[in-house]
Amino acid sequence: MTPASGANAPFDPPAQGEPYLLTPGPLTTSAEVKTAMLKDWGSWDGDFRAMTAELRRHLLAIAGDSEGYYDCVPLQGSGTFAVEAMLGSFLPRDGKALVLVNGAYGQRIVQTLGYLGRACWMIDKGDYLPPRGAEVAAALDADPAISHVVLVHCETSSGILNPLQEIAEVVAAKGRKLLIDSMSAFGALDLNPEEVPYTAMVSSANKCIEGVPGFGFVIARKTEIEAAKGRSHSLSLDIHDQWAVMEKTGQWRYTPPTHAVAAFLQALKQHEAEGGVAGRSARYAANRDTLVAGMRALGFETLLQDDWLSPIIVTFFNPAHPKFDFKRFYDLLKARGFIIYPGKLTVVDSFRIGCIGHLDSAIMQQLVDAVSEVLKEMGVDDAAPPSAAMNERAKLVA
Ligand SMILES: *Cc1c(COP(=O)(O)O)cnc(C)c1O
Repeated sequence: MTPASGANAPFDPPAQGEPYLLTPGPLTTSAEVKTAMLKDWGSWDGDFRAMTAELRRHLLAIAGDSEGYYDCVPLQGSGTFAVEAMLGSFLPRDGKALVLVNGAYGQRIVQTLGYLGRACWMIDKGDYLPPRGAEVAAALDADPAISHVVLVHCETSSGILNPLQEIAEVVAAKGRKLLIDSMSAFGALDLNPEEVPYTAMVSSANKCIEGVPGFGFVIARKTEIEAAKGRSHSLSLDIHDQWAVMEKTGQWRYTPPTHAVAAFLQALKQHEAEGGVAGRSARYAANRDTLVAGMRALGFETLLQDDWLSPIIVTFFNPAHPKFDFKRFYDLLKARGFIIYPGKLTVVDSFRIGCIGHLDSAIMQQLVDAVSEVLKEMGVDDAAPPSAAMNERAKLVA
């Protein structure tokens, strides 16, 4: 294995027998992150309380809130728990949401609001087409009762990077509030409240910060957290209560995922050493570029044209070739040490490959080489997609 950068080979393969996870979280973590979990922590103890304080401080620094208007509230559970907590805590019971949907995670937000009994509209763009500022402006003009707009930053189900800045400007101009699911983007893509005004956003431990699963976190304006008192439908998902107890005692309400927090602090150190958001973003973009160039050279094509490709995860069309079978493709790649991800498009068959995690472009090149071998083994001599896929691709232009 060739070290990617520097003398200390930071991208050694995972422990023996472990495949690379080319998935959007859980993802491949560094040996140091895994090692950080080899110790038990008392949740009430001062050492762990200091760890929690450091976690909150570091996440706010990544968010880039230099004015001190925002606070960070970590919450046990997977990312979806944090999304539900954000919706239930920041959307008043008599509020109304406009959800911008272009994939599974946007749909999940609508489903969650249904459980919460909150009024909501959606603009549903289908599998991957991006919501645009003009249609959001029109929807906000049409219904003055809409109080909040909810946007998925990077829609991980297709990999599209949604036009956050454009939407945020419209929402602010129309005097509404913005809630962001930045689960798969925070830490790798800029989300500075001074440039993109928002009420609250969520992400989780096992995405671009490269920790292990166990908790999510909300970053929200302090005034909004204060205003959320008594609003949540759920005790365990009450952001205000979690925040108030953390402010008072330095502790999480209820058992924290201590080992996941320890791993996350190590992941944060590595994020900083890499150059923060800019460094991480550059590595992921290089991963994507190596992946996309290599796959196109084999005949594959991406769902999205280059302007819309995120450095997070890329959707490829299945080849039209009759000998291509996704299950076999998956198994043969797994046997070579790479776990990929099935697609989520409803119109054409596809699969996804993540660019995030403790991986570099040398590893992405090894993956492309493995894909080439696997195609040969399957007898697929042309990876070009069917014409239906290319028609689909033509729907989205810059
Ligand atoms: C990963 C992810 C989530 C949360 O998923 P969990 O499985 O609950 O961790 C939510 N939104 C987006 C955009 C995601 O990528």
